[in-house]
This record gives sequence, C-alpha cells and structure tokens, in this order.
Amino acid sequence: MMDLKVLEKKIKNCRQCQLYKSAKNAVPGEGDPRAKILLVGEAPGANEDEVGRPFCGAAGKFLDQLLDSIKLPRSKVFITNIVKHRPPGNRDPQPDEIEACRGYLEQQIKIIKPKIIITLGRHSKNYFLPKSAPISQIRGKIFRKKDLVIVPLYHPAAGLHQAGLKTTIEKDFKIIRQILDKIEKE
Ligand code: URA
Repeated sequence: MMDLKVLEKKIKNCRQCQLYKSAKNAVPGEGDPRAKILLVGEAPGANEDEVGRPFCGAAGKFLDQLLDSIKLPRSKVFITNIVKHRPPGNRDPQPDEIEACRGYLEQQIKIIKPKIIITLGRHSKNYFLPKSAPISQIRGKIFRKKDLVIVPLYHPAAGLHQAGLKTTIEKDFKIIRQILDKIEKE
C-alpha cells in the first residue's frame, strides 16, 4: 500500500483540476499517521496556502482551543481537507474539484484507518453524508458507515463569524471525547 509520504508527493504534484494554478502550496494534511480520529475540513485558506499546513489561521486557532478543551492533542489526530489546494479567494470548492481530489482522501483513510471521522462544515458533511440532511439538524449526531463512525460538526470558522454558534460548537466538540473514551475502553 502507498504510504502517506508518497501520497503527499502526489498531492503536491497534482494537476487533476485547475486549483494548483492559483495556489502557492498544496495542503495534503498532517498529524498522527495512526490517528483514531480524522478531522476533515473544507479547503485550505490563505494562511494554509502560504505554509502548506492545514488549519493554521484563525479557524485553526479556534480548532486548537476546541481540541485542548477535550484534552486531545493536535499531534494525536490527523487533519486534512476535502480539497487539497486553495480555491481562489476562498470560494466554495466546485463539484469537479471535489471529485478530482476524492482519491487522495480515500487513500488517506485507507492508510490511516481512523475509527472516527469528524466532518467540519457543510462541504465535508456532504462528502460523507446525504446532502439532504442539513448540518444544523444533524451536527453532533453519530452516523455509522461500515466500521467507521462519522460525526458532522459545524466548521470552526462558523463560530468566529456567528458569535451565537461559538458555544454550540464548543458543546458539540465534547461528543468527540465521549466517543473516544468509549472506544478506548473496548
Ligand atoms: N478551513 C478549512 O476548511 N481548512 C483549513 O485547512 C483551513 C481553514
């Protein structure tokens, strides 16, 4: 099986959609290659594009606080995005771009073999769960897909833009700790 380093190289050289043309760096993802938890965001923003690492801007800072609040070190999870190059001006990733990037996330899941996938935001939720289910209704709920547990959560950036959502996101994050504690007992 391909390892994460080889996959990272492939992602950095990817030309399967147009996003590489405007991006400065690919953002393959990072973290524990044997993480039980895989966090999947939407796409790199300006900061991430600049340095090639996921969630290193304002939303990343909030994500770090959320992980701290459940005593889950960032080094113990793996963090990536649906789309590995920044969409220009932070526009939504387009269906063909999400499709072109699909194989990379699939490979990452195969290699890391997480037990829990946390989707951050609507695009990530739509990748794993039905589009018809609004994130506002299913956030924090547990879905099972084969041997994976999938938990859709709001994107941390939503908590920065809509003050009312910040406490909701903080509360929702606790579910990760509960699931993790349960899995660790098994
Ligand atoms: N928002 C995302 O969805 N991903 C990042 O890596 C950064 C911000």
